[in-house]
Amino acid sequence: MTANPTRVLVLNSGSSSVKYQLLDMADGARLAVGLVERIGEETSYLAHTPLATGGAKREREERMADHADALKAVAEELAADGLGLDSPELAAIGHRVVHGGQKFTQPTVITEELVAELEKLVPLAPLHNPANITGIRTAMGLRPDLPQVAVFDTAFHSTMPESAARYAIDTATADEHSIRRYGFHGTSHAYVSRETAKLLGKDPSEANVIVLHLGNGASASAVRGGECVDTSMGLTPLEGLVMGTRSGDIDPAVILHLSRNAGMSVDEIDSLLNKKSGLIGLCGDNDMREIRRRIDEGDEQAALAFDVYVHRLKKYIGAYYAVLGKVDAIAFTAGVGENAAPVREAAVAGLEELGLAVDASLNAVRSGEPRLISPDYARVAVAVVPTDEELEIATQSYALVSA
Ligand code: AMP
Repeated sequence: MTANPTRVLVLNSGSSSVKYQLLDMADGARLAVGLVERIGEETSYLAHTPLATGGAKREREERMADHADALKAVAEELAADGLGLDSPELAAIGHRVVHGGQKFTQPTVITEELVAELEKLVPLAPLHNPANITGIRTAMGLRPDLPQVAVFDTAFHSTMPESAARYAIDTATADEHSIRRYGFHGTSHAYVSRETAKLLGKDPSEANVIVLHLGNGASASAVRGGECVDTSMGLTPLEGLVMGTRSGDIDPAVILHLSRNAGMSVDEIDSLLNKKSGLIGLCGDNDMREIRRRIDEGDEQAALAFDVYVHRLKKYIGAYYAVLGKVDAIAFTAGVGENAAPVREAAVAGLEELGLAVDASLNAVRSGEPRLISPDYARVAVAVVPTDEELEIATQSYALVSA
């Protein structure tokens, strides 16, 4: 008899890409990781690393016309390592779904009805949800009998009180168009806030944590006793912090001004705010490594971009400190948060009166492990906690199907 299956395949489907990881929830081991890029283009690219066998990364360059082609190629690579989608050890496929609207606040087993509900949410996430749905449909086609789970980026933030979730606009208009603050990066905020509590030796229900997820997209959250009470992204991932290419908070009248006086169309303003703003808009680079290199060479534009980025970050630390009243820890995560010591140092600088400080030598340590970077005397812990969205999606999916 086969023991209960414990493996979960996590799929993160973008418009022309699929990222995947196969995890074994018996011990959290990662058995295989990979990605497909340029789906639908002349030559698509697949990279697959079979961690279970210790084998080297394998790459394929060939045309994959759609997500079905891409997932078939992924299935072939997994099968070549004895980890195929037909394996009896596979318990579930967990899908990252960006927008769950107000309806989906928990991981949910995927049915045809659920997919139909997701279609209705497309206007809220026109760039992301269609790709997620395509990934789900394709995976359902490959393994119709296998439980598939949708894990929503918005779900962790559904505990926000109305005072934080409501925009101060006409209520009838807001409700008619589902306009409210949903928040994103939820699996990361959930995982990192829990891991931070662990690092402090506390139960998540006993810890108040400010999570700063600073990747190319960036968001902050205020987590009280394991529940999100505020987050910086809103109806879409455009609100909040300064990001790689997104503006974050902006006076909404800027949009009216550009429309009325610069003759820009809605699509042009959308592209300006989402793709040509943030760090890249301020200095032409969105990679923090490059920005730091330019600052070291005396580049004033890069220095200004860094200062705007840090100023916004500091404002959110202060705001969420006030929202929480008492803070046990601030946790930095994602590409910039985990790696850019100067950002962490600058964001916390001058906040000693709030009990916040960073120890320069601890901050300089490079490590993939969760760690404290505050001095012993600081009242509030400052932590670096590597995020793991795939593990969180797998954990939530497995909990649901093995319950
Ligand atoms: P993510 O979206 O979490 O993958 O983060 C991507 C971003 O992390 C990149 O755009 C870089 O700006 C940043 N990043 C990655 N590694 C480093 C590093 N060593 N130092 C500074 N920034 C980094």
